[in-house]
Amino acid sequence: MTCVSCGRGEMVEARQPKVVERDGRVAVVRDVPVLVCDACGEAYLETDVAKQLDVLFRRLLDGPVDQVVGHYEHTAVA
Ligand SMILES: [Zn+2]
Repeated sequence: MTCVSCGRGEMVEARQPKVVERDGRVAVVRDVPVLVCDACGEAYLETDVAKQLDVLFRRLLDGPVDQVVGHYEHTAVA
């Protein structure tokens, strides 16, 4: 798959942490599967991964703590 951003790089699978901040609270999800361009470094989330991340971040940010770190879990889609 060729990068749609720069048009010359190849998208390669990688794992990256994703961070979301909401109302002064920070949530981190580690080991998120992404596609990263080997030329420009642009990272893409696949649709089901993005949906899953939404679920995870909502759950993490609804908790009682100011900072929370979770791992990406593919099975948690509601
Ligand atoms: Zn690129």
